[in-house]
Amino acid sequence: MIKPLRGMRDLAFEDAKKFEYFIDTATNIAKKYGYEYLETPILEESALFKRSVGESSDIVNKEMYQFIDKGGNDVCLRPEGTAGVVRFFISNKLDRQDGKYKFLYYGPMFRYERPQKGRFREFHQFGCESFGEESVYEDYTIIELISKIFDELNIAYSLEINSLGCSECMPKYKEKLVEFLEDIKDELCEDCQRRIKTNPIRVLDCKNQNCKTALSNAPKITDNLCSSCHSDFEKLKELLENSGIEFSVNKNLVRGLDYYNKSAFEFISSNLGAQNAIAGGGRYDKLVEFLGGKPTAAVGFAIGVERVLELLELPEQKREGYYFGAMSKEGVDKVVKVAKDIRKDNRAFVEFEPKKLKAHLKSADRQNSRYCCIVGEDELKNDTIWVKDLEEKREFIVSSDEFVKNI
Ligand SMILES: [Zn+2]
Ligand SMILES: [Zn+2]
Repeated sequence: MIKPLRGMRDLAFEDAKKFEYFIDTATNIAKKYGYEYLETPILEESALFKRSVGESSDIVNKEMYQFIDKGGNDVCLRPEGTAGVVRFFISNKLDRQDGKYKFLYYGPMFRYERPQKGRFREFHQFGCESFGEESVYEDYTIIELISKIFDELNIAYSLEINSLGCSECMPKYKEKLVEFLEDIKDELCEDCQRRIKTNPIRVLDCKNQNCKTALSNAPKITDNLCSSCHSDFEKLKELLENSGIEFSVNKNLVRGLDYYNKSAFEFISSNLGAQNAIAGGGRYDKLVEFLGGKPTAAVGFAIGVERVLELLELPEQKREGYYFGAMSKEGVDKVVKVAKDIRKDNRAFVEFEPKKLKAHLKSADRQNSRYCCIVGEDELKNDTIWVKDLEEKREFIVSSDEFVKNI
């Protein structure tokens, strides 16, 4: 027996329904904000992620499904969604159009990690990327969009925000931070000691308790912003406050890659275990340039679909559509014909095997159909259909013509 690969799973039945419900809801809301659907390839050149996600990251170093294809190309299954969208943006020369572009995407991503609760090797992301908009109103609007999705799905969250500064204030802050870290080096974990040289900002979000304690007096980015970053951050907070979206500032919320700047945010659920972030994003004004395009302001986010599905409760499933059955072989032709007309606007399920009424009613119930429509001996003779409304528990007989007309 062949099973799915480790860390991969089929999405079926209840989970598939939840998935569809989530994607429909998120897509509809994003479209109201002007985002249009974009589908990029799942397989891309490995170099794309080495450059965008960063060669020193675990994702690129340890977790990529990377291989040489039959043409000798170094390729990998995408580990995240943003890089492909930015690659699309540049390879279609949209960076030279000076316009504003908004794309939404969703689909499978792949990381070769140790599978655990809430973490799969194949997982799904839903994301939006907005290009060409510098205004902090866009940062606010994208947070508003995410909060609308979770509100609509009845998913509770807390929102954390931070500012990562810009190419003017960040490098100065980084120097200050490195100075501080060198002083407390001995109190830090091995990873953090290494990061002082490679990626000091990442030290701020180390989960090690000793590191957290040692870092409590570390200089904070938000106290070291230049005037433009400072006023944008204040404006973002003001906009969120005025719209009633609750948030807290997490001064240790970082992304650790140089092309991220200004707003960073994370939506967190308290109803999940260790993997508790359900959405994350922020501004990345340097990424388009980083990947060879013209400098373009950009802000975006991604939602971790599997984690959301864990929290999602489907709205009550109402009985829907029509179940057709016949009690004799002669009746089957007739129900097949009627079902064809019904399917123009409705769901119809047809049982081809003649059965007794009781058996049909049971099947219709299992299909969660609203109407159980049966052709027996009398109905065949009179050109009628026997119908039971399983919702309102009433029965009636109608002529075939009327039945199709009055649906
Ligand atoms: Zn700045
Ligand atoms: Zn540490």
